[in-house]
Amino acid sequence: SNQNLFVALREAFPENLDAVAVETDEGQVFTWRDLDRGTARLANLLASLGLPEGARVAVQVEKSVEAMMLYLATLRAGYVFLPLNTAYQSAEIEYFLGNAEPAVVVCTPRNLSWVAPIAKACGTPHVFTLGEDRSGTLLERAMHHESEHAPAQREASDLAAILYTSGTTGRSKGAMLTHGNLLSNARVLKDYWGWRRPGEEGGDVLLHALPIFHVHGLFVAIHGALISGSRMIWMNRFDPRRAIARLSQATVFMGVPTLYVRMLAEPSLGRQAVRRMRLFISGSAPLLPETFVAWRERTGHTILERYGMSETLMLTSNPYDAAQGERRAGTVGFPLPGVGVRVHLDDGTPAPAGEIGGIEVTGPNVFTAYWRLPEKTREEFTADGWFKTGDVGRFDEQGYLTIVGRSKDLIISGGYNVYPAEIESAINELPGVAESAVVGVPHPDFGEVGVAVVVARPLAKVDGEEVIAQLKTRLANFKIPKRCFVVGDLPRNTMGKVQKNLLREQHKGLFA
Ligand code: ATP
Ligand code: MG
Repeated sequence: SNQNLFVALREAFPENLDAVAVETDEGQVFTWRDLDRGTARLANLLASLGLPEGARVAVQVEKSVEAMMLYLATLRAGYVFLPLNTAYQSAEIEYFLGNAEPAVVVCTPRNLSWVAPIAKACGTPHVFTLGEDRSGTLLERAMHHESEHAPAQREASDLAAILYTSGTTGRSKGAMLTHGNLLSNARVLKDYWGWRRPGEEGGDVLLHALPIFHVHGLFVAIHGALISGSRMIWMNRFDPRRAIARLSQATVFMGVPTLYVRMLAEPSLGRQAVRRMRLFISGSAPLLPETFVAWRERTGHTILERYGMSETLMLTSNPYDAAQGERRAGTVGFPLPGVGVRVHLDDGTPAPAGEIGGIEVTGPNVFTAYWRLPEKTREEFTADGWFKTGDVGRFDEQGYLTIVGRSKDLIISGGYNVYPAEIESAINELPGVAESAVVGVPHPDFGEVGVAVVVARPLAKVDGEEVIAQLKTRLANFKIPKRCFVVGDLPRNTMGKVQKNLLREQHKGLFA
């Protein structure tokens, strides 16, 4: 049988193809038939280009339903989808196109003038444009193609997408994901989170407000809705007030922590706004317990936090079903069914419950290799084939996993391990503190010492020396940052993740 992911998604379409599949925030409506025909036309266009086996289709466009269809069409035609963050500028695009050597590049019409020369220099034969408003050459060309298309025959082990990591710890790496990786994870999440098909208690409606160049919005959200035949309400960009207004028509919402923080700042968020909601999911970065609690107080809903990454898709989740346990703030829950998650000490032995070590994973969802980085790929897998996530954490007695940081961010001070997340949560509890980041910098006596960078709440006054004095009453001396700076903002990448490498760089000369 055909293991093409598109086939499984297409089979999950509801029987009534005239039902609404996607409704945009601007009121545009796409039926399931529209998705079927639109993706067929685009797949036929791609097929007409005579691309070689395994050809990459690199896409840097604004979020739109047509952009999602281009993803599905690439699967359908059997090529490899390669989404790129819309924030990337010419130097970054030069790197990604040079590295991936795509056969097709699709960009925003207004970027064509600088993308086209880069694509040419990289030897890309086909460049199309796609605007948020359906403008551009891609749809013009696709219109002339048939609205039927038999999905390309693919094996589970065939490449479906290359997803570049967010570049939080350094240069982005291309994670090679197969049809089998994506489908297995979609099926597990459908069951685990109890997605409802139309007809089952009204069926689910997903409010889709995330970007679609990243694992969260592209795979977790879109596959989740499609594989359960569920309708989506589609926002091309997140706006907290609009999102709250739309929540009253939805049952499922997925967000990164900042989306929850921004909605909490709106007075219109309350129980009435979420009366139909079934599930709020958070991931991609740590959800502060404070946000978790505030959300529950305001809406009556307990956010379900899960953990995953570009290389592995979703790994762990807090329980959906109360019978399996409570959703616990500050944890990322249990390994998903079929996913192996273990915590290992530096010597390679399993860490007992409560002890911190490196998080390693295995399962049908784990990627095969980093694109054109065989060395890096070898380094990141253990001898027995588990992938080293680069995250550090611990299991508690009940089996809940807590992430305490990334191994690259670990500080070794005077021979002791210092986990930045522990120091940060102590700092965040101090009056007037909004958020903080602790990084290690070189020190002649201790090897490394911690430096804290703190953001104050609006109108609050926070003093760096006072922060350090307060910490001394709460934490062991070797954990205390040697310096504390109060700043306006923490540096974040385009996914909203704090870039500790920049902070380290900035402060590396402090004690030199
Ligand atoms: P790069 O690998 O290029 O440095 P990145 O790791 O940020 O960037 P992604 O694959 O987008 O790239 O993000 C995966 C990482 O996000 C995980 O390894 C983990 O550190 C973090 N993460 C994801 N979900 C959570 C969560 N619920 N809590 C804490 N961290 C999370
Ligand atoms: Mg990573």
